[in-house]
Amino acid sequence: MSRKRRSEAEIGALEVRRITSRVFEVYNPMTNHIYRVWEENGEFKCTCPGYQFHRSKMEKGWMCKHIRAVLSFLEKGSVEKEG
Ligand SMILES: [Zn+2]
Repeated sequence: MSRKRRSEAEIGALEVRRITSRVFEVYNPMTNHIYRVWEENGEFKCTCPGYQFHRSKMEKGWMCKHIRAVLSFLEKGSVEKEG
């Protein structure tokens, strides 16, 4: 339970920027890293090492926090934030 809450807080700290309709950049102000998340064949992919690691082990459907951040960004899409 607390683990889930912590990961949600972590995702909340990430800044998602939309590049195109299917490409996003996720910035982590705590680590100063930017990763690119994009949609391909209905699946989200990320450039971060964690994603590469899990995908290389064929963990289908595994999502890193950057992908989760993009998904929650899209869920909140109807609530437009200005500026
Ligand atoms: Zn990632």
